[in-house]
Amino acid sequence: MAAETTYPPCVGCGFCCTKAVCALGIGFYECNEPPDPPCRGLVWSEQDQRHYCQLILEQGAESKLAELMAIGAGCSCTLNDWYREPNQNRTK
Ligand code: SF4
Ligand code: SF4
Repeated sequence: MAAETTYPPCVGCGFCCTKAVCALGIGFYECNEPPDPPCRGLVWSEQDQRHYCQLILEQGAESKLAELMAIGAGCSCTLNDWYREPNQNRTK
């Protein structure tokens, strides 16, 4: 389980994985700096109308990897415009 934080919840807007691919995205999916992103690990759920990380879908939200990635700890970049807009598929 991720450490408790005071961050507001992640809404799955996909901003972070599009603008700043994490080290795992660079390592696993060989994503580099813009304009290469969004990370190829970023997946869109039509059903949930939000993005997920493919690595976490495979490993599980309770996995060690999820803990290391602070999944569930909230969003630290809520000033981005996407956070307040209705989510849309950013993987296209
Ligand atoms: S809400 Fe924040 S942490 Fe979640 S996908 Fe958007 S920018 Fe990333
Ligand atoms: S989709 Fe997953 S691997 Fe890619 S940048 Fe986001 S958190 Fe990292």
